[in-house]
Amino acid sequence: MEALRFVVCGRPECRQVFFLCSACDRGRRYCGSACSRRARTASVREAGRRYQRTRDGRHAHAARQAAWRQRQKVTHQAPPPGAPEATVAPEPTGPAMEADTQVGSARPLPHAPPSLPTCASCGRTSPFTRHTTLARTHLGPRWRRARPP
Ligand SMILES: [Zn+2]
Ligand SMILES: [Zn+2]
Repeated sequence: MEALRFVVCGRPECRQVFFLCSACDRGRRYCGSACSRRARTASVREAGRRYQRTRDGRHAHAARQAAWRQRQKVTHQAPPPGAPEATVAPEPTGPAMEADTQVGSARPLPHAPPSLPTCASCGRTSPFTRHTTLARTHLGPRWRRARPP
């Protein structure tokens, strides 16, 4: 019988307890995509903010915008022969980077178990849990081979 690994979410603000089966256990440290994304992007975003505040940062931003507009113009200047007059797409109203905040941190895990520990990734349940990962051992692949197709 396969055991699920007992994991505590690696984001200090969360500490959500969850489980992973050996098939899904790749050394994952966060309870869900929201947490892993936040943990991964938090430092990057902070560095980006610092960069934007500098004059070089603003200049680079303006250059990127100009290059983008230039690309749009080129795309729409040469419609294929015989095509109806091209409709120029409206320019985006702002950076598309601010959409991913506020994504359910308090959301219950998918396949939330009534009692049995459940893999947070695929939903597999097991009455057994372990506290060590298989990601760094040779057990994982052998177990997968032994499983019926
Ligand atoms: Zn979490
Ligand atoms: Zn799984």
